[in-house]
Amino acid sequence: MTDLHHKLQALYEEVAQRNPGEKEFHQAVYEVLTSLGPVVDKHPDLADIAVIRRLCEPERQIIFRVPWLDDSGNVQINRGFRVEFNSALGPFKGGLRFHPSVYLGIVKFLGFEQIFKNSLTGLPIGGGKGGSDFDPKGRSDNEVMRFCQSFMTELYRHLGEYTDVPAGDIGVGTREIGYMFGQYKRITNRYESGMLTGKGLTWGGSQVRTEATGYGTVFFVDEILQSTGQSFEGKQVVVSGSGNVAIYAIEKVHSLGGTVIACSDSSGYLRDDKGIDVELLKEIKEINRGRITDYVEARGGAAQVVTDRSVWEVPCDIALPCATQNEVSGEDAIQLIKSGCLIVAEGANMPCTPEAVKNFEEAGVTFAPGKAVNAGGVATSALEMQQNASRDSWTFDDTEARLAEIMRRIHDRCLSTADEYGQPGNYVAGANIAGFTRVADAMLALGLV
Ligand code: NDP
Repeated sequence: MTDLHHKLQALYEEVAQRNPGEKEFHQAVYEVLTSLGPVVDKHPDLADIAVIRRLCEPERQIIFRVPWLDDSGNVQINRGFRVEFNSALGPFKGGLRFHPSVYLGIVKFLGFEQIFKNSLTGLPIGGGKGGSDFDPKGRSDNEVMRFCQSFMTELYRHLGEYTDVPAGDIGVGTREIGYMFGQYKRITNRYESGMLTGKGLTWGGSQVRTEATGYGTVFFVDEILQSTGQSFEGKQVVVSGSGNVAIYAIEKVHSLGGTVIACSDSSGYLRDDKGIDVELLKEIKEINRGRITDYVEARGGAAQVVTDRSVWEVPCDIALPCATQNEVSGEDAIQLIKSGCLIVAEGANMPCTPEAVKNFEEAGVTFAPGKAVNAGGVATSALEMQQNASRDSWTFDDTEARLAEIMRRIHDRCLSTADEYGQPGNYVAGANIAGFTRVADAMLALGLV
C-alpha cells in the first residue's frame, strides 16, 4: 500500500475502526486519501482534516426490510439500503444495485466513489448509492415486479427530484426502474419524472442513457489515445462483463475502428477473434437474459467459451474492466502487462485491486480510474433530469454530443489537475484531487452542516 500523509493516516485508521468489516469501503477511502497528501500541503484550508472527516461519514444511512411473495406463494425477505453520502453539490445521486453480494460496505464504497465522480462531471449532483441483496437472476418478471414494489414502498419517503435521485446499477435496468417508478407514482400520486433516472424513452427517459456509461468509457479512452496521437483504429480490446456497461463499450469501440475480441460474465469468458457480434450479444443478454454460452452456440465457428480462467489472460492493447469491484487481481495485471497491454480504463467501479493498480503504474501502463472513466452514466442521468425539469426531450445525436463533450472535459480536468499538483499523466491523482476540491469548496461555503 502507498504511504499516506501523516494527517490522513490517522483519519484512515479512524474510518476503518468506525466502520468495522466494511473492507470495500475502507479500500475506496484509502484510494482517495492516497491522492490528497499534496492538497493537504498546498491548501491546508481546503483540505482541513475536519472537512475530509465529514466527507467520510454519510449524511444519512437507511437500511430496511423488503418482504415479498415469490411465485410459489412463499414469503421472501431481503434487505434494502440507501446511503445518502453527500449533498453539498446537489441532490444525492447514484444507482441501485440488486445482487446477492450487496451489504452496507459495498453500498458505502459505491456511495463514497460517487461523490467524487459526480463532482468531476461539473454538474449539480451530490453522491449516494443503494440497493439490495435481492438476486433478480432466475426470477420471473412478476417476482421482480413484486420485489421492486416492496422496495419502493419503503424507499419512496426518502426520495424526490430535489432530495435523492436513484438510477440503475448491477441487476437494475429499465425493467426494474419502471416497476419502481410506477410504485412511487402510485404512492405519491405525482408524476415526478426527475426522481429516478434510467427511465424508458416513452415515460420520461433520455436518449443515450442506456448507452451512456459504455459509450462514455470509450470516449474517455479515445481522449487518452488522441492525447498521444493515436486512435482506436486497429486496436484489440478486451472487455469484462456482458451487461449494460460492457455491451455499449463494445459497440462504441467497434464504431471507432477497434475490435473487442473477448468479454465475460460470472460463468467465464468468451473469445471471438473476428470481433464480438454486439447485436447477437444484446439479443442474448438484454432480451433473453441468457449466458455467454448461448452466444457461442448461436455464433458457432471460431467463438469459444472458457470457464475456469480469467478473461485477462487474453492478450490485448486495451483492457476495459466493466463487470464488478476487485475483478482484476495483481496477477491478472502482471499477465496483461506481459502480453503488451498499453491502457487499462475502468468501466466498472473499482474493478482493479490496489495490487493491480500498483503493478500497472510501475510498468508504465496508462491507468484511468472508474470515477473518471465511467462518469458518463451519471452525467447523462443529470441530462435526463435537465430534460425532465424543462419537460423537453433531446435527440440521440444532440445528447451523445453532450456526453462526448462532458467526457472530454473530465479527461482534461484530470490531466490539468495532475499537472497542477506535480504528477503529470497521473489520472488517479487528477481525478481524486479535482473531484475532492470541488466538493470541499462547496462544503466549506455551506457551513457546518
Ligand atoms: P449489469 O448487471 O448490467 O452487468 C454486470 C455484468 O458484470 C454482468 O455480465 C455480470 O455477469 C458481471 N458480474 C457482476 N458481478 C460479477 C461477479 N461478482 N463476478 C463476475 N462477473 C460479475 O451491470 P452494469 O453493466 O450496469 O454495471 C457494471 C459495473 O459498472 C458495476 O461496477 C457498476 O457499478 C458500474 N457502473 C454502472 C453504471 C451504469 O450506468 N449501469 C454507471 C457507472 C458505473 P452475470 O450476469 O453472470 O452476473
